[in-house]
Amino acid sequence: MQINFDRLKNDIEELGRIGRDPKGGVTRPSFSKADLEARAWLKEKIREAGLVYRVDGAGNIFGRLGECQGKTVMVGSHIDTVINGGMFDGSIGVLSGLECLRRILEEGYRLAKPVELASFTDEEGNLVGDFLGSRAFVGELNKDLLEKGLTSFGHPLKEILAGTEFTTESILEARKTAPEIEAYLELHIEQGPILETEDVPIGIVDLITGKHYRWCSFIGSASHSGTTPLELRQDAFLGLADFALKSTQYVATKYYGSMVTIGKVNVSPGAFSVVPGQADFSFEFRSGSKETMRSLESALFSLADDIASTRGLTFVSKIIDQTEPVKIPERLIKLLQEECRKLGHPFMPVTSGAGHDAQILASKTDVAMIFIPSPDGISHSPRETIRWEDLEKGANLLLQALLRLAS
Ligand SMILES: [Zn+2]
Repeated sequence: MQINFDRLKNDIEELGRIGRDPKGGVTRPSFSKADLEARAWLKEKIREAGLVYRVDGAGNIFGRLGECQGKTVMVGSHIDTVINGGMFDGSIGVLSGLECLRRILEEGYRLAKPVELASFTDEEGNLVGDFLGSRAFVGELNKDLLEKGLTSFGHPLKEILAGTEFTTESILEARKTAPEIEAYLELHIEQGPILETEDVPIGIVDLITGKHYRWCSFIGSASHSGTTPLELRQDAFLGLADFALKSTQYVATKYYGSMVTIGKVNVSPGAFSVVPGQADFSFEFRSGSKETMRSLESALFSLADDIASTRGLTFVSKIIDQTEPVKIPERLIKLLQEECRKLGHPFMPVTSGAGHDAQILASKTDVAMIFIPSPDGISHSPRETIRWEDLEKGANLLLQALLRLAS
């Protein structure tokens, strides 16, 4: 059995036209007008395919195949995008999953276990933190964040939900309708350069790295830059500059392979003639090992405290988000390798430096991921693309893996 590649390609192109941004790419954050249109489109596709459509309280969309009992084999990803994102991130996972289920149904193939397609809400974290849908699905959502958190568009979540059939209460209840899951599979673009550099069409993910996000501030004292001697300043920006350099050097020398990034900086008052009194910044680190995550957390923030005390500053920080690294179970890696060999496609192990819904589902079930190359390593950009022949290979691998898990 093989997927119908032309139909899959057509679906991806059709969905990619919903939410086209005049500035380029696709803008389809969850519960936006474009996203609601995409949801209606997907619902129709699921029904046309003859699958049982269902939506849970968090807006996660499902298409179920099979009336048999037992734990469900789930396949999915997300259809929301970042602002000016690409049309392949997430969508290829959902639509390849749909295509697999459609083919199984068309062939009248009898499975021993139910199989379900899932499209999770707000994987991209445009609302309140990443993975709203999959976190609701596994029951790991912070009620406070939902009720008090502002979305990245500056409005309370409740305001955005007002245009939908969902509420913060229904999101918190979503876990109650989640089936027991045997395994979760996700096909995704790599969003990095490794597969293309190695010229390999399939990556079998062995590890998804964990991440830790904080908003941080060095607080000093704003003073006149012409009259305050250098040694008497409490320059918050210099604290940040020192921390940026030393934290990067620390990670590079002690935990090479882990990542540390300062992505947004705001220095205030922010003018000529004024020594900066405050430096606010985003700080994140990522690693594939839980132990390293713990070590980095304690080492990096005590480094910040040391720098603050040396420079007469105060350091404060607030955790915004964190996810644990996930090791993919050996049995699923082996299964994917075996099926890939049977199909005759070259493959290699890859680590996912980006987060995915699979990582969240890992607290409830075994998960595995298949990556296909991202040309030039580009994603979250209008320039994001794929090579269609890689997708065909990846989607056929997904189909074979699903058949094995559900038989
Ligand atoms: Zn994605």
